[in-house]
Amino acid sequence: MRKMAGKRDYYEVLGVARTATAEEIKKAYRKLAIQFHPDKNPGNKEAEEKFKEAAEAYEVLADDNKRKAYDQFGHAGAQGGGFDFSQFGGAGGAGFSNLNDLFGDIFSEVFGAGGPGGRGGRGGVRGQRGADLRYNLSVSFEEAAFGVEKTIQVPRETACKTCSGTGARPGTSAETCGTCRGAGEIRFQQGFFTLSKTCPDCSGSGQIIKSKCGDCRGSGRKTETTRLQVKVPAGIDSGQRLKLRGEGEAGTMGAPSGDLYVVIEVDEHPFFRRDGVDVHCSVPISFPQAALGTEIDVPTLGGTVKLKIPAGTQSNKRFRLKAKGIAQLGGRDRGDQYVMIQVEVPSKLTSEQRQLLERFAAIGGESFPESQSFLKKMKDWF
Ligand SMILES: [Zn+2]
Ligand SMILES: [Zn+2]
Repeated sequence: MRKMAGKRDYYEVLGVARTATAEEIKKAYRKLAIQFHPDKNPGNKEAEEKFKEAAEAYEVLADDNKRKAYDQFGHAGAQGGGFDFSQFGGAGGAGFSNLNDLFGDIFSEVFGAGGPGGRGGRGGVRGQRGADLRYNLSVSFEEAAFGVEKTIQVPRETACKTCSGTGARPGTSAETCGTCRGAGEIRFQQGFFTLSKTCPDCSGSGQIIKSKCGDCRGSGRKTETTRLQVKVPAGIDSGQRLKLRGEGEAGTMGAPSGDLYVVIEVDEHPFFRRDGVDVHCSVPISFPQAALGTEIDVPTLGGTVKLKIPAGTQSNKRFRLKAKGIAQLGGRDRGDQYVMIQVEVPSKLTSEQRQLLERFAAIGGESFPESQSFLKKMKDWF
């Protein structure tokens, strides 16, 4: 028996070999989930724990990448992002998808056909969860740094308001399909076997709409553009996404709606560049300023600040402005701002400037120790 940090080995939980195929893992999980399902074991804490344990094991072993990480690093490996159900981050949100697929199956076994949210009854008539939607939202550099509230317009399929999603003209209602008697499927004999197929007359819905709603032509659904308010938190970065639960497409026959994922794209800034919570910018100064020292104005997200440049500052010298960066997402700390100095050398000189510089060069040999020492090293090398 392998024990790691008080947690049972996932293979052991599901009772499969480490070499088990995906199909074997699915089968083993399905069996346990049905056996320990809370609805079948009301008030039984042990069953509930076993149910959760099996779900966790399946969540990891059913995903090739997570399974590999688990095989290699144990529980620590599987938790590297795998159980991140937070709003943010790449792996979150979609994590439960393969569980959900299976739950459809399991619910029908626990509750009898239909499952929660479905219509119940015989056959494959069941509402379908609405599709998840993705919306790409561009925000400015400053909006990402400070947070912003945006109104977005999302075209999505919703239940038709005219017929309340039934597809039937108001005042009329759908009739039970005569071909399948409302079951949505037809059974037929082939040799020794009874087979079933989706009813061709009602496409599995079990109902026939004689008088169709004019607005949705009987589909019960319409594409509508909905305005939604999105709160973009301070510190968000490109590629991160916000999950708006239930704001995806409507489900059919009372099944839940999908979710809406708002994927953030942060625009480039004319002079700020971002690295996590830190902000970088380059500021040019003239070569006399660098040699003599000065005080310059530096832009930050919070406005202009003074920065003292000591005499003899070289190009690419970096100064740090503490806590002038971007707020940590969901936290209180701020990053820093780094200012990179670029010393500008004139590319055009007036004759007076030229004369002064030539005079400077004639007496300035000792002022350039780096150049002198490099010259010496080069001579020695030859
Ligand atoms: Zn039918
Ligand atoms: Zn309609």
